[in-house]
Amino acid sequence: MAGAEGTAVGAVAQAEAGRLMSQERAARIAQIRPIIARVGKRNQLLVKIVTEDGLVGWGESGMSSREGAVAATIDHFAGFLLGQDSRQIGRIWQECYRGQYFEGGRVLTAAISAIDIALYDLLGNRLGVPVYQLLGGRQRDVVPNFATTMAATKDGLVSEARALVDAGWDCIRTYPASFVGEAVFDPRATLAQTAQELIAVREEVGPNVHLGVDLHHRYSVPDIAYLCDLLPAGTLNFLEEPIRCETPEAYETLRRMTNIPFAVGEEFASKWQAAPYLERGLAQYMRLDVCNVGGFTEAMKIAGWSERHYIDLMPHNPLGPICTAATVHLGAAVPNFSWAETRQSPVEELGFHDPELFPVQITMEGPVYRVPDAPGLGVSVNEDLIAEQTVTHIEAPHLRRPDGSVTNW
Ligand SMILES: [Mg+2]
Repeated sequence: MAGAEGTAVGAVAQAEAGRLMSQERAARIAQIRPIIARVGKRNQLLVKIVTEDGLVGWGESGMSSREGAVAATIDHFAGFLLGQDSRQIGRIWQECYRGQYFEGGRVLTAAISAIDIALYDLLGNRLGVPVYQLLGGRQRDVVPNFATTMAATKDGLVSEARALVDAGWDCIRTYPASFVGEAVFDPRATLAQTAQELIAVREEVGPNVHLGVDLHHRYSVPDIAYLCDLLPAGTLNFLEEPIRCETPEAYETLRRMTNIPFAVGEEFASKWQAAPYLERGLAQYMRLDVCNVGGFTEAMKIAGWSERHYIDLMPHNPLGPICTAATVHLGAAVPNFSWAETRQSPVEELGFHDPELFPVQITMEGPVYRVPDAPGLGVSVNEDLIAEQTVTHIEAPHLRRPDGSVTNW
């Protein structure tokens, strides 16, 4: 009898091993394809990953205007990822990041981000669950957003802000009017004008709307110190990217010169870049970009590290429906969240969420995205239509100062 039972147990174990092996075989990566798509006024670098059983996952890279470099990196990674188990997402992240002597860098992590997001989409599709379920489950029903005002005049900024408040938005991020239509940009010449614009917008929206300004890291420490001195207390809830982020010590200097909270992080390409900003109190909102920082795998680690410092995520989300979906799933799954950036609002129409190119995408309800129930990211891509688009390279403006020297866009 014992022998017969042993044989039966052995047969069950053998069947189970066979089942797991066939699952593993089905989940192997069969194809990784970067696709540069023209969507609205920008290009979007998508990645499509297909497994042996024909399941598809989509990801997006956030490195605008350097899509070719990221696409080449994705092709390179495909050389060693084909045939691997698509479910081993964390291990694949490590191999892409550390599988060479020269680790990291923005181009590499932009490529890793797109692959990581696509692998999560694939796994969600495989298991029939939304991506947020793979990240610990849903912590909120909707993901709130801030909108952006961009106008060439103070009056234009004020009227856009009014329109947003009237439509129910409670967080507005504005740009200085001097950012519109410039090939020559003189940061110092427009500080007083920018201060007047911010004061006027605050007067218009009242004290209960959160108001920030994105300075696109175009300024120096003394420029920003002066701008802040021109602003009455309570004008701003956050300063976004006032200076470049390569040197945290410069932010430490600036932190001592103003008490306006900083929203920093969209340029970070890893948790290692985020670390000094979190640990030294230099970011009061974490602006990570899931499509650049290393996908969900890296973003969730930075989210946890931010939570440890009571810092809310305020994700950068300037591109298309896949980036938006990834941001929404991330925002749904973390406890520490304020607003996501969206470029879909009553005062902006950039065409980045073209419904013909992306027939299924996450829908907005006023200023929030409803957290979706569909498996994976919940986005579909019309590949045939994307293939018909003519894609030409779009270079971000190269700004210069009045004396001819280079300055940041
Ligand atoms: Mg920004």
